[in-house]
Amino acid sequence: RLEIRHIDRIFGGRKVVDGVTLQVLPGQVTCLLGPSGCGKSTTLRIIAGVDRQDAGEIRIDGQLVCDTVFRLPPERRSVGLMFQDFALFPHLSVAENVAFGLTGPKAARRARVEALLDRVALGRFIDAFPHELSGGEQQRVALARALAPRPKIMLMDEPFSGLDNRLRDEIRDETLQVLKEEGAAVLLVTHEPDEAMRMADEIALMRGGRIVQQGAPYNLYNAPVDRAAAAFFSDIN
Ligand code: ATP
Ligand code: MG
Repeated sequence: RLEIRHIDRIFGGRKVVDGVTLQVLPGQVTCLLGPSGCGKSTTLRIIAGVDRQDAGEIRIDGQLVCDTVFRLPPERRSVGLMFQDFALFPHLSVAENVAFGLTGPKAARRARVEALLDRVALGRFIDAFPHELSGGEQQRVALARALAPRPKIMLMDEPFSGLDNRLRDEIRDETLQVLKEEGAAVLLVTHEPDEAMRMADEIALMRGGRIVQQGAPYNLYNAPVDRAAAAFFSDIN
């Protein structure tokens, strides 16, 4: 369970993230949805621990992860990352990529890698290298890699935006299934309303650094908080 409380982030005197408060429950996908520049990636980076906030605190399963004084390093947060530009390591095989964040006995690591690659239907590519895979296949390896250490929280920043339309639908559905099976709390960033409608259990609509509305996709679609929100959802096909 991820709890974000009253997070601010200031760049050049401007509050880019402004009082963001949000909870993400295990086994659920929460979408942080909003237009370009509204502060989505900044929020995600603070949770991941690669940036710091100017106010507020973050907890995972009740444990303090960071406030304005204390910061747990990224690798101790039990957070998995999947970003659009978060590429695989080109010089490592598929198996080595997936095993990258794993510790423990070799046989157990290998078993986890094999199980995950089977799960994303890429078992036959276990000894291949990233350049031998298609974009969609690389994306599935990236998912397996992020999930390998069994993170409590999965952070995804526009992970599907590099894929063509048909492939994107397929990978979204498969990713969703795997995420549900693994049971992580998922925070997915997107600027596409239809992606949020398709994947989210809960949507947090963000604008100008603030969360302006939050709820089930159906509720946001049917009862947008204002005209701008209505316009934002109106071009869903
Ligand atoms: P997009 O959908 O385009 O990815 P976003 O919602 O992820 O947008 P952010 O990347 O969080 O937006 O950026 C929010 C605002 O903060 C932008 O105006 C951006 O220019 C600014 N910003 C982000 N990082 C920095 C930084 N390191 N220094 C200064 N300004 C920054
Ligand atoms: Mg972004």
